[in-house]
Amino acid sequence: MYELNQKAGALKPYDPIAGQYEVRLDANESFLPLPEEVVLDAQTALAELPFNRYPDPTAGEACAAFAAHYGVPVEQVVAGNGSDELITVIFSTFLEKGDAFATIEPDFSMYAFNGFLQEARHVAIPKNEDYTLDIDKTIQVCREENVKLLIFSNPCNPTSLVCPREEVARLIRSVDALVILDEAYMDFSDQSLLVQAEEFDNLILLRTCSKAFGMAAIRLGFAVARPELAEVLRAAKSPYNVNALSQKIGALALGQELAIKAALKDILASRDELYAGLEKLGQAYPGRFTLLPSATNFCTMLMPDKQEFFEYLKSKSIVIRLTGGVVRITCGTWEENARFLSAAEDYLKGADA
Ligand SMILES: *Cc1c(COP(=O)(O)O)cnc(C)c1O
Repeated sequence: MYELNQKAGALKPYDPIAGQYEVRLDANESFLPLPEEVVLDAQTALAELPFNRYPDPTAGEACAAFAAHYGVPVEQVVAGNGSDELITVIFSTFLEKGDAFATIEPDFSMYAFNGFLQEARHVAIPKNEDYTLDIDKTIQVCREENVKLLIFSNPCNPTSLVCPREEVARLIRSVDALVILDEAYMDFSDQSLLVQAEEFDNLILLRTCSKAFGMAAIRLGFAVARPELAEVLRAAKSPYNVNALSQKIGALALGQELAIKAALKDILASRDELYAGLEKLGQAYPGRFTLLPSATNFCTMLMPDKQEFFEYLKSKSIVIRLTGGVVRITCGTWEENARFLSAAEDYLKGADA
């Protein structure tokens, strides 16, 4: 009789909120549809796609469009089936069984999951009480624990805080570990180390098309690192990891500079509106929650009764996300923000409680 090993038996599937809800502010996606030019060009490309052939194993066109958009050399760029895939490839390549990897908690939950799959030793470094990064402590722990791989997001999901790039650079320079800097939300902020990535011999930087670019559906992410490290990633990934359609759509969308700028402006305006609404609620109901500053497309609240808040919103067909001990609300359309804020106010004032 076949018996699952302990590792396989312990796995729990990633649990995005299932079910039909009218307002979804739970997954940090963009609320905007893809620009019409991109959709039309993609339709034309689809008609001409050689479906019987394997796609370009290097996703060359998509990598070139990414490199051009951000102004980095294309030799440093590797494409993945979402940055989630790249995280898995990185963990399985750069960690050996029993090696220590470090996260700075709370952070994106997939890091710890991948370390578990890899049978690596998890060193969880806590954030400061105000949820900022303690750079000195992180350096110290990495040295003491012989950490081989340090991974964190900046700006951070779920805290929405950004750490200044000089501090991040100091951290990378001060450790022997390979540092995986996940900049999934950096399009909403201005502290990227992307164009400096080649100054570091121990850095792999991650970006995704799922957030600012509004392409969560096509699963496209990128790693940026010095050519030596980029070459290792290309060798380690599965050969045709990014499908032909995603390569094409990614290349088209990343080439639309004006549309990208316009979308970013709309998302940030929505985030500001959501943030201002929450700030107002914070003033009207002092002591009920704390709002952290946001450098992302979501707002993060600290709230003792978060579970009740979550359930209340769900009963109004509005979903947000509880993760890492905080409340995370993705900014949405004007109507979605308004519905959320009005329900939040009802909750705070104790309506039908
Ligand atoms: C959303 C997210 C990702 C996943 O991006 P995909 O490219 O969609 O796999 C990676 N890291 C962080 C911190 C995220 O929030």
